[in-house]
Amino acid sequence: MAFVIRKTSFFIMNTLSLFAGSLVIPCLMGSLAALLFGNKSPQKKIPGLLFHSVLPCPGLNLSEYPLDNFHSFLQALNNHNIKTISVKDTLNVKSDLDKGSRCILSFDDGLECFYKYTLPVLQQTRHVSTVFCVAGYLGRFSGWDVYPTKKHLNKEQIRIISDNGHEIGSHTLTHANLPYLRDKDLDTELKRSKEILEDITSKPVTSISFPHGSWNQRVWEKAKAAGYTAATLYRGHNNAQSDQFPVFGAFRFDSTTTLLKRISPNNRIFSSSIAAAKLLSHFSKGTPVWKFRKTYRFFLKG
Ligand SMILES: [Zn+2]
Repeated sequence: MAFVIRKTSFFIMNTLSLFAGSLVIPCLMGSLAALLFGNKSPQKKIPGLLFHSVLPCPGLNLSEYPLDNFHSFLQALNNHNIKTISVKDTLNVKSDLDKGSRCILSFDDGLECFYKYTLPVLQQTRHVSTVFCVAGYLGRFSGWDVYPTKKHLNKEQIRIISDNGHEIGSHTLTHANLPYLRDKDLDTELKRSKEILEDITSKPVTSISFPHGSWNQRVWEKAKAAGYTAATLYRGHNNAQSDQFPVFGAFRFDSTTTLLKRISPNNRIFSSSIAAAKLLSHFSKGTPVWKFRKTYRFFLKG
């Protein structure tokens, strides 16, 4: 059954990717998504984007963003005087004026391509980011993506990234779907990943991104008890609390203009760009496929 679902989502994602070059389809999808899901105006927050991989030659995977476009986007941020900020530092920004000229650049999964391609461009354009690493897969290949897997950052690369001023956050120990874990396993995912990454960076790890964007109140309370003080939210934006920051996916076909719209604080009433990101977040990276494990349990209330 899981195999069939996996293949079906692979087909769906490939089909979506074929439309990737079109500006019309994302716009239509965005409008449809806005009608279906609404687009509640959240409380004033520093906006953020979520990337997975930035590559010179992206493949069919919607979450692979072209390196040239990424470079152009960073230059556009500079041209618009928008400064990037790490997730942990967002907690210190109190003024709404400051919030309007900042944005979070987050990178989930902590893939090796960040070190190879993304870090040099960020350094060149003087931007900072937060990289969420899966602490149990350092230097290894993962198995949860529908698309061919990529290698994760190793310890030395993580140390260099951290030493260059970028924040290292946790994306758990094994990329588990956290709301389905019993308390003991949930604690291990949260605490052990934090310890491993703190040993590498010699800095506190206080930010977390929930794998698959999957979280609930129980997960967040456990995370706070484990020492996390901020989280990015890929999903569940409307329930964001003061220490949680909604981030919108950046997808392969997104132009610089689209990404700028996605982080614009003036664009929240009706934005096809944001609505498209919300919709596509359900199709990228195999996210429609829950990776059920023996240890997963259902918690009807979190
Ligand atoms: Zn992930």
